[in-house]
Amino acid sequence: MLQLATLIKHHAQFRPDQVAVVFEQDRLTWREFEARVSQCARVLTWLGVRKGDRVATVLANCRELLEVYWAVPSIGAVLVPLSPLLMPSGLTSLLRDSGANCLVTQRSMAPMIDQVRAELPELAADHVLMVDGPAGDYPDYGSLFKTCADGASEPVRVGSDDIFNIMYTSGTTGLPKGIIHSHFVRAMYGTLFASAWRMSAESVVLHTGAIVFNGAFVTLMPCFYLGARYLLQRQFDAEEAIEIIARERVTHTMMVPAQIIAILNAPNFSPEKLASLEMILSLGAPLYQEYKDLLNRLLPDRFYELYGLTEGFWTILDKTQSLRKAGSVGAPPFFYEMRIVREDGSDAPAGEVGEIVGRGPSLMGGYYGRPDLTVQAIRDGWLFTGDLGYTDGEGYLYLVDRKKDMIDSGGVKVYPKDVEEVAARHPAVREVAVFGVAHEKWGETPVAAVVLNAGASITAGELRDWINERVGARYQRLHALQIMDDFPRNAAGKTLKREMRDAYQVAAGDR
Ligand code: ATP
Repeated sequence: MLQLATLIKHHAQFRPDQVAVVFEQDRLTWREFEARVSQCARVLTWLGVRKGDRVATVLANCRELLEVYWAVPSIGAVLVPLSPLLMPSGLTSLLRDSGANCLVTQRSMAPMIDQVRAELPELAADHVLMVDGPAGDYPDYGSLFKTCADGASEPVRVGSDDIFNIMYTSGTTGLPKGIIHSHFVRAMYGTLFASAWRMSAESVVLHTGAIVFNGAFVTLMPCFYLGARYLLQRQFDAEEAIEIIARERVTHTMMVPAQIIAILNAPNFSPEKLASLEMILSLGAPLYQEYKDLLNRLLPDRFYELYGLTEGFWTILDKTQSLRKAGSVGAPPFFYEMRIVREDGSDAPAGEVGEIVGRGPSLMGGYYGRPDLTVQAIRDGWLFTGDLGYTDGEGYLYLVDRKKDMIDSGGVKVYPKDVEEVAARHPAVREVAVFGVAHEKWGETPVAAVVLNAGASITAGELRDWINERVGARYQRLHALQIMDDFPRNAAGKTLKREMRDAYQVAAGDR
């Protein structure tokens, strides 16, 4: 039996006065945090939530979200973290998909919850808890704490194979899918990442982005597994993050590339302010080599990269290898295996591009309610990632691109990432996204969208010419380039190329 939530009780017993969670002005010790998790578990039990029931959260980062994250699995219920940035139709479909019968949310969401409940009457008003005070028919989470202050909660038998959470993917390439992680898989996140990131109980972890996506669990689980300190920012803010790192002596942080770029460009950035960091981890999307080189130069021996999917395979570029293996996203850690597979299913040798296929102890239990999609993704125990890459002779992985993003220009493959790396070398370029659009002659052709650095002055035409002079092949030349104030992003901060491509095509059609 592996009841993961007992970790919290363990730390409360053995490290009661150590600070566990820091959120804005709140600093909770393990004893205080455990008391709140237990109270929350009692409230849920009192509401009738039982083992196997799904409890959703629709919350911006806050202390209560962390409490619910541990209270729900402690009673054997299934956690369903959802983004507060969802539109009413998206929220309705994910609540319906997960079958959640209890929701913890915030008052600003009340009008949207009214709309959702018109479609989902089975979600009772008294099962919608507001963490920041009552709203209409929806009760106040805090006052329920008082109602359920006493009484021991019944111990619930939870096993390693029981579902810990249903995690919806960030939906970068399509509709989000509900990914099942068991208690065992989440325990693997705790133990394996704790050693991979060289964390200890004295580590101080800062998380800056929304914690409703799987990437957050890559530092959250090892931190709570070890009983280290977890600092949570309400929402990403580069300047504030730098001040928190300096003030709180943060040792470990993980960010998506856009956040790392914002930190490096922040007016108050200085390597001295980040000197306490032992790890800066990039994941979720490609970080341009320019920025990796800059990080390695300004903050040597800190940069890690994780290539991974919510579905459960990953490679790790350790900080000791980040210079020697520049450009690689690392190698599978122990217990993980990787193959590069050709379209005919045979294994590609080192140096040849193919689909990345992997297996390991963090593989998902499947897509919730979608056995059809599960058998497509996991074949004979191997996860087909939908990403293209190749390995070198030492077994390190080099990511080429997502299969879905590859551009077929007159039968020649253009990998957007190759062109993006060239564009990122221009000093005016802060971020770039290359994607394929329809072309009469070639079928598809590459175009780019660019966000410029503050104060940069260059025209779209000049920048396109600069890039086109430097790409490695004629077919990689950009057909067009558009300068944007910012990119459309999902709530995890990842760039949504799909939306840019659709918007470009609509605009082209209008011409
Ligand atoms: P959806 O599956 O709904 O489209 P998603 O693919 O963004 O969403 P995630 O599990 O959040 O789902 O992201 C996994 C993908 O992110 C990988 O398949 C890969 O394409 C990309 N990715 C992850 N890590 C890296 C990395 N270090 N460098 C480049 N790309 C990465």
